[in-house]
Amino acid sequence: MNPSLIYPGIYRIRLPLAGKKPGPVNVYLFKGKDNITLLDTGTDLSWRYLESHLKKIGVCFSHIHRIIMTHGHVDHYGAASRIFFNGKRNATVIAHAADRRPIETGTDVPSDAYRRFLVATGTPVIYHFGIVPMFFLFRKRLARPCPVHETLNLSEPLLMGDYRAKVIETPGHTRGSVCLLLEKEGILFSGDHILPHITPNAFPMLEKSGLPVRSSQNEFYESLERIKIIAPQIIYPAHGKMIRDFESVHNMYKTCFAQRQDSILRTVQNNPGKSIYDMARIHFPEISGSRRFILDLYLAVSEVYTHIQVLEKLGRVRTLFTNRILLVEYIQ
Ligand SMILES: [Zn+2]
Ligand SMILES: [Zn+2]
Repeated sequence: MNPSLIYPGIYRIRLPLAGKKPGPVNVYLFKGKDNITLLDTGTDLSWRYLESHLKKIGVCFSHIHRIIMTHGHVDHYGAASRIFFNGKRNATVIAHAADRRPIETGTDVPSDAYRRFLVATGTPVIYHFGIVPMFFLFRKRLARPCPVHETLNLSEPLLMGDYRAKVIETPGHTRGSVCLLLEKEGILFSGDHILPHITPNAFPMLEKSGLPVRSSQNEFYESLERIKIIAPQIIYPAHGKMIRDFESVHNMYKTCFAQRQDSILRTVQNNPGKSIYDMARIHFPEISGSRRFILDLYLAVSEVYTHIQVLEKLGRVRTLFTNRILLVEYIQ
């Protein structure tokens, strides 16, 4: 059923999202006595669905007091601008300070940063012309930039409907990813930090200069440990079904991560002195024939790069620049 009442005063609304993974977006409406809060919005392409589903529970865009984003990806903030402006600017838009820029401008770093990253990873120039515009067009189609009126206050509980949620910072998937915890009820709204069916991408956190300083994989797993300590009874993710057994999802992530890291290390060992791009092509040969080649190529390069960051920290590989390209060596 859509929308479905998942807890007193809390509704889940499932909105369409193109592609098989990660699947439809779950947004959550907290309908309280004096406060109506929407957690995530879906893309700008699905705002009419959202509007009609909200009507079924007696809510119009202009009734919404707060729009809170779990992070700055298009499937989570894409319709925020539409809801805000069509709702007579009644809502306050709230997000983590670190994801404010992508929500307000449509991109977390200038396009030059992507180019610099592609150069450093050894990705041939011919693909730069596909990858960089692809991101901008993709974002433009799925999201309208939206003003962020408030950044999340991490020291105070956040009013959502009749509930007070604790904001848990969970960087990794993006810089400003957060989970929201209803402590008394033992319920966690995990955004894309915890998904039941796939391991969330830890995208490289590009700097203006191109190469990331922060390690998204390491931060993602540190954030996961934070959730393990909290041990929520129920997790409502932004894609897929409710999770009751966090332990088994956590174990699945750890196994996948260890296997991927192991096989990337073996790729480095067998192909010394190669670029990240070369290793991505060796490691993921299947992308060559894919219809979404440009996107898959970028994801493959990102995946190898973020794992190399972890392996370098562990002292298993070393990287060095040669002619502006980062080459990777196995450490015996
Ligand atoms: Zn995301
Ligand atoms: Zn998502």
